[in-house]
Amino acid sequence: MQTRHTPARKRIALVAHDNKKAELIEWAIYNKATLTRHQLFGTGTTGRLLEDALDVHVTRLLSGPLGGDQQIGAMIAEGRLDVLIFFWDPMSAQPHDPDIKALLRLGVLWNIPMACDRTTADFLLTSPLMYEAYETILPDYDAYLKRKV
Ligand code: PGA
Repeated sequence: MQTRHTPARKRIALVAHDNKKAELIEWAIYNKATLTRHQLFGTGTTGRLLEDALDVHVTRLLSGPLGGDQQIGAMIAEGRLDVLIFFWDPMSAQPHDPDIKALLRLGVLWNIPMACDRTTADFLLTSPLMYEAYETILPDYDAYLKRKV
């Protein structure tokens, strides 16, 4: 069984679509003390708003529609991200819909804890596992990689 070491200090990416940004920022301010114990990443605009609201460093990627979602997906695939908080908007079409789908897919593919709404984010952030090291069991893609084509 293959595992990936997830450190006690997590690498957390935060992303919110425009209609969800206010909700994410309010949630982040409420949870500032716990969130800032971790290393934070964000897509361009979300990251900027978070930095302003929390007064902490947030590593800012590209804006979501300009490739930020794909950057986060790559971090997940390469084992460089531990948690994803993604407040996507279920009520508006997004220009980068394929990127959103790809990001959600990679999160599940690599068994990453993901919260897509505020309640799940609360449950996730209050889990004791957020504050201790954890061995993530990696799905076994060996048979897939060794398949005959
Ligand atoms: P943004 O990107 O934080 O740059 O607005 C978020 C998104 O739409 O994926």
